[in-house]
Amino acid sequence: MSKNNRVTLDYIGYIESPFKEKFAIPRQPGLVKAAQGKVILTGDSNNADIVKALEQFSHIWLLFIFHGTQAQGWKPLVRPPRLGGNKKMGVLATRSTFRPNPIGMSVVELTSVEVSNQQVILHISGIDLLDQTPIVDIKPYIPYSDALPNADAGFAQTQPDINVSVTFSHSAQLSLTKYEQEYTGLSQLIEQVLAQDPRPAYKRDKVDDKVYGMTLYDLNIEWQMQDLTSLQVTQITKPCANTSTGNNQ
Ligand code: SAM
Repeated sequence: MSKNNRVTLDYIGYIESPFKEKFAIPRQPGLVKAAQGKVILTGDSNNADIVKALEQFSHIWLLFIFHGTQAQGWKPLVRPPRLGGNKKMGVLATRSTFRPNPIGMSVVELTSVEVSNQQVILHISGIDLLDQTPIVDIKPYIPYSDALPNADAGFAQTQPDINVSVTFSHSAQLSLTKYEQEYTGLSQLIEQVLAQDPRPAYKRDKVDDKVYGMTLYDLNIEWQMQDLTSLQVTQITKPCANTSTGNNQ
């Protein structure tokens, strides 16, 4: 630490993720097991020695920069989504992205470690990270020290009790069948992401007829609520594709 209370960090890599925008990213890791991604190590950290023995660990901590919100600065008080977005809490009592230093931490499953063509890649799942998120450190998850089942966690003691059932329209189902060949596990990913009801927290107990959309990989996925606990995926399209299965079925 220098005299002016500043520290300089070098990114050690970045994330490749199906989540291309903030909307609909799971609010914590592990909530969407089908969310798979990669850590691509870069620069001096792209060195096979740096990950020697890491494959012994089923889970790792990722320390990263909230690069997508960094420019917006931070606030002392924030409104956690799990409180419906209408109660303010101290930012340090939350996992908000709008922190004094935009540092995030997520425990993710390490499914494999790949070193090929002089490139180190960590395959991970259960992620809550935006595509291209910069990584500043990786540590093994150590259950005897990191898991504290009896810890008090105030307003965040238990996993949010949200489980919306997801169905697909005929048109969306046809598109899904087509795009699953390109994106293995796509249907589980869509179902698990939407089961969390990614709409803004204040809408959680409301049915609205708005058509919502999210981007996963390079696909646009649209859905509508049907009632409080179910929704239907109405359309899955690939904007750049010459033909759109979603529109012409
Ligand atoms: N598990 C981490 C933590 O506790 O530090 C992140 C928790 S934060 C509540 C999760 C949200 O951060 C996601 O739902 C997504 O909206 C947002 N997010 C993920 N990656 C981001 C990035 N690189 N920049 C900005 N926001 C990001």
